Amino acid sequence: MSAPYLAGRLQGFGTTVFAEMSALATATGSINLGQGFPDTPGPAEVLDVARAAIGTDADQYPPGPGTPGLRAAIAAHLERFRGLSYDPDAEVLVTAGATEALTAAMLALVEPGDEVVLFEPVYDSYAAAVAMAGGVLRPVPLAPPPADTDGAVWTFDPADLRAAVGPRTKLLLLNTPHNPTGKVFSRAELDLVAEVVLQAGLLLVTDEVYEHLVFSGAGHVSAATLPGLRERTLVVGSGGKTFSTTGWKVGWACGPAPLVAAVRTAKQFLTYVNAGPFQPAIAAGLALPDAYFAGIAADLERRRDVLVAGLRAAGLPAIAPEATYFAMVDVRGVRDDADGLAFCRDLPERAGVVAVPAGAFWTAGHADRGRHLVRFAFCKRDEVLTEAVDRLSRMSA
Ligand SMILES: *Cc1c(COP(=O)(O)O)cnc(C)c1O
Repeated sequence: MSAPYLAGRLQGFGTTVFAEMSALATATGSINLGQGFPDTPGPAEVLDVARAAIGTDADQYPPGPGTPGLRAAIAAHLERFRGLSYDPDAEVLVTAGATEALTAAMLALVEPGDEVVLFEPVYDSYAAAVAMAGGVLRPVPLAPPPADTDGAVWTFDPADLRAAVGPRTKLLLLNTPHNPTGKVFSRAELDLVAEVVLQAGLLLVTDEVYEHLVFSGAGHVSAATLPGLRERTLVVGSGGKTFSTTGWKVGWACGPAPLVAAVRTAKQFLTYVNAGPFQPAIAAGLALPDAYFAGIAADLERRRDVLVAGLRAAGLPAIAPEATYFAMVDVRGVRDDADGLAFCRDLPERAGVVAVPAGAFWTAGHADRGRHLVRFAFCKRDEVLTEAVDRLSRMSA
């Protein structure tokens, strides 16, 4: 697709297949399991605080680093769940979602030509954020497990990780729990990441927006808790996934003061501030009792099981995720051409359901690695999921 006005560094980022699939869902009246946002409201304790804040001083520019109340709540939450201690004044920055935290981090930390190591497939915004900073991607492939195999997880080859690091490598961008694979990096895998980061003197940026959406058998470990890493790591989080408020865009970055100061410098000229009335609301959410956080994970795990069982019953080989909103299907078992994009284009007609081709999550030139995979979201109401599974079971050939 030609994009005549688009600057060279953003060529290739013009349109995504997600827009095509959502349009297809609307045009065909299909159930949209392509997009990963919940269709139920967040906890009343959180929503009520936002409602009450509108019409007050909270409507005006909050302090640049975020409201003191939210920064304190972010620090207390990281202490409670990860045992990590951050100074709310110097080591916590509120951002316009995790997306801005990540982009501001790349703009602040990466020089043109610097290399960024990350595990592929990647969340949509990573490659664009690195490109905006003039950085160069060094992807390390994650390999999918065989579908329909319980307990099998995505893996990577340690040699690939070591080989991705060179003299120009500036930082490693980690995402655990990982979107789109649903992988939770194990302690042993994180030990290896730590070894590589420390040996090469890299910075680490770790996107942990799904920290509370982890299912039984897996345990989330923040990379900042590994020996030697806190002093060179930015932990990025968000209220969007945890409180079903993805449109509020309240995120954060926590780390040692000089790193946070660097990110704040970029952030102040991107958005300056955002989400005034939502900041106290997310602060209230972060202070909810442990039972809330355990509850959302259990609830989502049940939905995962409904979708994965439904996919398998419909003859679609599914990979059960350890966390997040998403499950993948390997279409090699159901299509001779193994083409996930063609599968997704046909699915609305065949079943009245929309999914997204996962090849889009691999970086330029690597889409073939994920060509046979498609992603389904299960963060949907019971009746929506049941209807989707029902439709898939009646799917035409
Ligand atoms: C949803 C998501 C984000 C974006 O979070 P926001 O707070 O909405 O900006 C970042 N990283 C991953 C892996 C995500 O899935």
